[in-house]
Amino acid sequence: MSATIIDGKSIAKSIDQDVAHKAKALGERLGRKLGLAVVLVGDDKASAVYVRNKARRTEAAGMRSLEIRLPASTSQAELLARVAVLNADEAVDGILVQLPLPAPIDAQAVIAAIDPAKDVDGFHPENVGRLSLGLPGLVPCTPLGCVILAKTVRPSLAGAEVVIVGRSNIVGKPVALLMLRDDATVTLAHSKTRDLPAICRRADVLVAAVGRREMIRGDWIKPGATVIDVGINQIAGADGKNRLVGDVAFAEAKAVAGAITPVPGGVGPMTIACLLRNTVTAAALRRALPDPYRS
Ligand code: NDP
Repeated sequence: MSATIIDGKSIAKSIDQDVAHKAKALGERLGRKLGLAVVLVGDDKASAVYVRNKARRTEAAGMRSLEIRLPASTSQAELLARVAVLNADEAVDGILVQLPLPAPIDAQAVIAAIDPAKDVDGFHPENVGRLSLGLPGLVPCTPLGCVILAKTVRPSLAGAEVVIVGRSNIVGKPVALLMLRDDATVTLAHSKTRDLPAICRRADVLVAAVGRREMIRGDWIKPGATVIDVGINQIAGADGKNRLVGDVAFAEAKAVAGAITPVPGGVGPMTIACLLRNTVTAAALRRALPDPYRS
């Protein structure tokens, strides 16, 4: 048996195209393009590449991209002042402050300063609370991407046993809440979990968000399960060049699973697609219009 490969790249592309249609329709009602502001502090190279990609895909989806680049020396007060300006700007629908922020800026204080209605990363405590209460709001992008990918092969998660390995605030926990919202039976595993292989083997849907390369082996996977690999780990290839591998031993897992996301090309491309999707949701909710993505 060989698993179906869940092609995150093409699924993300179709989300981008759908966002473009919905952003256009909403933009016509508002009399302007939807706007997404991304704030980058400092010169972290990976963040700079990511922010450039966001800007390119935002424009390609027919939305206005505002890039605010600030030096690493920016103080917390200056950053908070910038956020306040974006909060007040009627033409800005979504605000994302790229993490990590340089020390000594307190990332939590900055996130809490973003207008929750514009918090397209879904990290504001109000949005985290809304998700845990099952209320409509903005949800984190990578977790949303995981659920969308799982549903491409398993449209209903009702009653499914879902095991998530990793309980971070940005991936594991929100994936758990989203899967719970979809009526899955959720187990959230972490570094203190006993007999992780046995718990993973129960999963109809196994989500790996650990950050340890190829930790999850083929014999941890229930035959036919759906495997969503969030991990991004750089390793040196035989040719001396770096390559990316996930948290799941892909070749082994592919022989057992029913469907699996590759790394790269699985969860990775979904994050920006869901960010664009969230921008449409934010623009609609802020004006009490129906969210075209409310499921
Ligand atoms: P964190 O380091 O914040 O969390 C890792 C989690 O894994 C923790 O809950 C930790 O448990 C758990 N863990 C660590 N070791 C073990 C172990 N041996 N057994 C079981 N659980 C373990 O990572 P993130 O959630 O931020 O990211 C996870 C991965 O996803 C990374 O590879 C990251 O690069 C990737 N990622 C990819 C994204 C994308 O595709 N766009 C976006 C974000 C992340 P404990 O809580 O007990 O310490």
